[in-house]
Amino acid sequence: MIRANDKNIKTWIEVSENSDFSIQNIPFGIAKVNNEVFVATRIGDTVVNLYTVARLGHFDVAKDVFASCRLNDFMLLGKQATRDVRDKISDIFNANNAEAKNNVELQEALLNVNDVEMLMPVEVGDYTDFYSSEQHAFNVGCLFRDPDNALMPNWKHIPVGYHGRASSIIPSGTSFHRPKGQKKPPTEEMPVFGQSNLLDFELETAFFTYEGKPLGDSISTEEADDYIFGMTLLNDWSARDIQGWEYVPLGPFLGKSFASHLSCWVVTLDALEPFRTAGPVQNPKVLPYLEYAGDKHVDINLEVLIQPEGGEETSVCKSNYKYMYWNMNQQLAHHSVNGCNIKAGDCMGSGTISGPKEGEFGSMLEISWKGTKTVPMKDGTERKFINDNDTVIMRGFAEKDGVRIGFGEVAAKVLPAK
Ligand code: MN
Repeated sequence: MIRANDKNIKTWIEVSENSDFSIQNIPFGIAKVNNEVFVATRIGDTVVNLYTVARLGHFDVAKDVFASCRLNDFMLLGKQATRDVRDKISDIFNANNAEAKNNVELQEALLNVNDVEMLMPVEVGDYTDFYSSEQHAFNVGCLFRDPDNALMPNWKHIPVGYHGRASSIIPSGTSFHRPKGQKKPPTEEMPVFGQSNLLDFELETAFFTYEGKPLGDSISTEEADDYIFGMTLLNDWSARDIQGWEYVPLGPFLGKSFASHLSCWVVTLDALEPFRTAGPVQNPKVLPYLEYAGDKHVDINLEVLIQPEGGEETSVCKSNYKYMYWNMNQQLAHHSVNGCNIKAGDCMGSGTISGPKEGEFGSMLEISWKGTKTVPMKDGTERKFINDNDTVIMRGFAEKDGVRIGFGEVAAKVLPAK
């Protein structure tokens, strides 16, 4: 049992009933106030400056780790040390800790969320994107091939993935311009250059790794939990028209590398432990290095909303992370089975997370069924893909036994092409 996960813990900080940031969450992020940047956690609507807490001598690790502008240095401490810090934060803000509550110096660490700017939480060295939701792979296979051959022959044997672009992974709230590129409309004989007209979101989660093993060594499915720090939401944007023309034979490139957005609070794998759930039966049987024991999927409710300029949000998808075919342990084992070394701060995308039912599809490609259906917005307009000045918002949370562990949101506005 991880101490901070005890569902009976209450805190002396005010937390509203539906807050994503219960005392059991204790996520980590990078915050900025005035010109100071520091590692932070959040309880309710209170952001806690952990550098201030560290300077008061509460943690057993070097305080400078919390003055960093990225979580990588914290991650480099490894699982046990970061778990101890999270447990210690839980103790400090426990409702029974009157001494901490009345400590004037500690009060200086407490900030209102509205006074804080959240920055990119992790300096991502390498970004890998998987393709691990069966319903998504099936839907895309139906749209571009046929239902009988929807899944490629390798799909149920390999957690398929590709190496993505790290430099354009950006935090929630960062607007970006509609990408331009080369595309070949089906009606044209020759390719054309222009703005993407089929801009799409992909509902994903990401996980971030601790420092792995040396080049040449592998991480097993059993060891994988010790190498995963935590998770965020990920909107892995796609320009479907650019992607469709470029992807053969080497896969995604400029149709993907213009932007991917992260939610700013990294929820630890420890905090998500109570929400573990069984995954699907994998048939055909996977190779031994991909076998795993125990419940390794996670029950996380996910939602996507589109907000037109000045308008209301319209929900277009409700899905769940438990629908994944391949879990994080299998993804990490597969990623390192060839001896590829994993570094602290690597980002691994889940792939679009689509549920089995209509209304649970995690991209406009699937929701509009390749543009053959329109999706009504509350303001009376319609969408097949994403328009200029639309904001796409993704939210996610796990909830059980009266404890809610949420991610907040990842939101980003699409500006017209430059
Ligand atoms: Mn993706």
